[in-house]
Amino acid sequence: MNEPEEHRREGFGGNGRFETRAIHAGQSPDEVTGALMPPIYATSTYLQDGPGEDRGYEYSRTGNPTRTALEGNLAALEGGEFGRAFASGMASINTVMNLLSAGDHVVAGDDVYGGTHRLFEQVYEQYDLSFSFVDTTDAEAVREAFRPETELLWIETPTNPLMRINDIAALSKIAHEHDVLCAVDNTFATPYLQRPLEFGADVVSHSLTKYLGGHSDVIGGALVTDDPELDERFGFYQNSVGATPDPFACFLVLRGTKTLPLRMERHCENARTVAARLEAHPDVAQVYYPGLKSHSDHDLAAEQMDDFGGIMSFELDATLEETADVVSSTELFALAESLGGVESLIEQPATMTHASIPPEQRREAGLTDGLVRISVGTEHVEDLWADLESAIDTAVDG
Ligand SMILES: *Cc1c(COP(=O)(O)O)cnc(C)c1O
Repeated sequence: MNEPEEHRREGFGGNGRFETRAIHAGQSPDEVTGALMPPIYATSTYLQDGPGEDRGYEYSRTGNPTRTALEGNLAALEGGEFGRAFASGMASINTVMNLLSAGDHVVAGDDVYGGTHRLFEQVYEQYDLSFSFVDTTDAEAVREAFRPETELLWIETPTNPLMRINDIAALSKIAHEHDVLCAVDNTFATPYLQRPLEFGADVVSHSLTKYLGGHSDVIGGALVTDDPELDERFGFYQNSVGATPDPFACFLVLRGTKTLPLRMERHCENARTVAARLEAHPDVAQVYYPGLKSHSDHDLAAEQMDDFGGIMSFELDATLEETADVVSSTELFALAESLGGVESLIEQPATMTHASIPPEQRREAGLTDGLVRISVGTEHVEDLWADLESAIDTAVDG
């Protein structure tokens, strides 16, 4: 494979602090024109100087300079050695699954992202892989789920939508005691708030579609690791499977990561205010935000994360219909799935993101009819609160 090692992780500022790396890592001015921003290299192939003598790139599924810049940038943000970008978050998760063979067993969180659950159960079970979905906030439950054929521990933290926190250091340690790989989906936290490699994880997975892109205008995924052998295999699957992002998508995400620290600061600040006010609202039974002292995992979150992010759920003292009215009547908070963009979103897990779970099982998991999930954007917090409060006050018969 001709993945050009010499093109990786160059660029000034790669060793700076997070905010500096966000803007500079992986990128250097174009050698020919001096273009300060990495150009969108819209090319499928590259001129060779002689047969087999390429200049580091030969075909854009294998490697593209815009993608190389993004991969270097993402690796630097996670504090990892190697980054690989994919066509979607699902494609990056699928690439980790490509490491496994028939007969292998995977331990995963019982509240992982719905698409992850679907990939594991509906795609990979037919390839003779087996899965145990367990409460990964319970280290003992994880330890007990391991079998001799377990090869992967897949966790997500914070989880969706109840914002439970998994102890990355403890779980990585258990995985390594069993010679098992620990992969962490870091989409909700972003590397600005949490860097799983620092806690011993082997692989970090991202949906770039969310906070890293940050503007709800691109689909992408990424894997970051410190392990050169894993990275080489990820590169092999990029090339062999072909789920790579086009250079325009890479450009958009690179544009997004430059402002990641600024956006996350505001997301966190707004979310803190909204969470506190929701908690004081008479129609709100419970707020699930790890930044609140009332959250069951607050202490662990405070240890593992630098701040608590922009996503939360809250439970209304309301029926399914009243709750549907609340999420339908906000004006600023757009009724939509997804999260992590600068604009605020609202949704009802019972009828939207988690509708495929049977009602009984859903309620048992704490996903009640009155549950609402919001992705708090970077708008002015007073406008956001006025919108939310008015929707609740109008729709709920207090
Ligand atoms: C959105 C999301 C994914 C899937 O990413 P896509 O870019 O939509 O394929 C995976 N994990 C988490 C936690 C997500 O929020």
